[in-house]
Amino acid sequence: MKTICDNFIFALGDDKEKAILVQDGELLCFKTRDCFNDQIDSEDYVFDKLDWDHINPACGPVYLADATPEDCLKAEIVDIKLAEEGTMCCLSDNGVLGRDITHACVKKCKITSEGVHFNELVLSLRPMIGVIGNAPAEQSVACGTPGSHGGNMDNLKITKGSTLYLPIFHDGAYFALGDVHAAMGDGEIMVSGVECPAEVTVRLSVIKGAKIMDPMLEDADHIYTIASSENIEEAIYKACSAMNKIICQQLGYELNEAGMLMSACGDLQFCQVVDPERTVRFAMPKNILKLDELDSCLKNIRAI
Ligand code: CA
Ligand code: ZN
Repeated sequence: MKTICDNFIFALGDDKEKAILVQDGELLCFKTRDCFNDQIDSEDYVFDKLDWDHINPACGPVYLADATPEDCLKAEIVDIKLAEEGTMCCLSDNGVLGRDITHACVKKCKITSEGVHFNELVLSLRPMIGVIGNAPAEQSVACGTPGSHGGNMDNLKITKGSTLYLPIFHDGAYFALGDVHAAMGDGEIMVSGVECPAEVTVRLSVIKGAKIMDPMLEDADHIYTIASSENIEEAIYKACSAMNKIICQQLGYELNEAGMLMSACGDLQFCQVVDPERTVRFAMPKNILKLDELDSCLKNIRAI
């Protein structure tokens, strides 16, 4: 297994000189830093010191052989090993409660097999990948910003056992990931989850001829469309419209029928509502879609 470490970028882009060549179907281990680039060493940390130009590091990029913009990248999340300590913070004017925050603070949380130790509480582990994506279509995009290329989606469903499908905009895709959380709630309202370094094992492959416009995700029971926009209502529309098209294709329904089915048994969910673009997902049960693997469905489509 190839290990990707000491190769960090702060924007996703098609920088061929930095890229590491990997083969279709290769298993990779990414050794990631936390979203603060491991700068926050204690709860006494003074934020004035933080180098804001070097936050949200992603490990990579990798150049995936045979990947072209006519294809889709498939990233199977095989494992996430967390570090033993996580960091949270809050800052004035940041996040949903930003207007009410009077002073910045840092919290350090021990991470054990029992969970995340938050004061006297032990929270369930929910390891997830915050930043994961390909080089965007146009110029490079800071790792802190999500979009059609993926990026800082902060989607707690991107976890061990799930499979992410990403659009490819450049030959080789230029895939990278980072910003692992030991736990995070939907919305990430204070702008941080329990941020920690990690070792992420991923299998990357190319689905030839499957052109998608925005990320999609699959786990044991659901498929998800994912969309980001500065305007959360636009993100909601994009995620719903993409799912509507999948249902039309998969079940042979028209827009209205597919929409009513979504309204009856699909779930619109927040990923995060605090990053430069907001991210939402729409979940549909696989059994309703008569779908075992999204993979097979994507092979039959030209664009969603
Ligand atoms: Ca994040
Ligand atoms: Zn994070």
